[in-house]
Amino acid sequence: AVGLGTAVMGCRVEFFTDLPTTNGEAKKLALAGSPEGTVVVAESQSGGKGRMDRVWFSPPAKGLWFTIVLRPQVNLVETPQITMVVAVAVALAVREHTGVAVGIKWPNDLLMEDKKLCGILVELNAEMDRVNFMVAGIGLNVNIDKSQFPPELSEIATSLKIAAGHHIPRVPLFRTILQSFEIWYRRWLQEGFVPILNKWRELCVTLDCPVTVHNIKDSYIGHAMDVDETGALLVKLPDGTIQRLVAGEVSLRKV
Ligand code: ATP
Repeated sequence: AVGLGTAVMGCRVEFFTDLPTTNGEAKKLALAGSPEGTVVVAESQSGGKGRMDRVWFSPPAKGLWFTIVLRPQVNLVETPQITMVVAVAVALAVREHTGVAVGIKWPNDLLMEDKKLCGILVELNAEMDRVNFMVAGIGLNVNIDKSQFPPELSEIATSLKIAAGHHIPRVPLFRTILQSFEIWYRRWLQEGFVPILNKWRELCVTLDCPVTVHNIKDSYIGHAMDVDETGALLVKLPDGTIQRLVAGEVSLRKV
């Protein structure tokens, strides 16, 4: 795409001052036939969402709040893998561009020193057993100061500015992220999930460590061992049994 240094990602960029959510707008565009690589960017989101409809704080001009439309020709069972493709691509782009050593927290967050820097929310639209489209939403805290986070986030969230110690111009970073995503997405389509998973393991900071697992019913502690070939997390419980956790159902805390 012109000025972005990519072939597909960002072939069309739709910019908005404010949106309820960039995922919502991207879904509308995708339903209307927008091609793969269409990107929806907003300066702020009034109703930014994380998983399970949790609120995502998206103040004006302080972050990269955007969504990419994807139309991968893959089986439905493979679609959850895209969250990990995005996590790897964004983590590597941020590291390369800013030197901030971000890590991945299973399944969908990027952390810096145990604080959340970026959230990823992928949504699927499928008909019968065919993928119609997916939207990959990325919310990256770029220039938010510590004092600008709402009180409930001030101890659990961070930004690149806080981590790097200086303001980070957003446009070159946006370009680096799209370029990185294009490389990793293509790799996923061509070589499958194994190279993604290998890189993801290297970047993950919630493996081989004690964790608390919260699900709808209860919470318990265990030891995060590894991810299996589908990306599910394997947690060893105190009684020695291994639990297989699928993204979307549970939240994880390092202990
Ligand atoms: P958990 O961290 O419990 O696993 P999750 O991965 O499901 O949650 P998301 O649904 O991706 O988290 O994100 C929503 C949560 O992230 C909110 O409940 C809030 O705690 C936190 N949050 C909201 N906005 C931001 C932000 N801009 N930066 C960092 N954290 C945020």
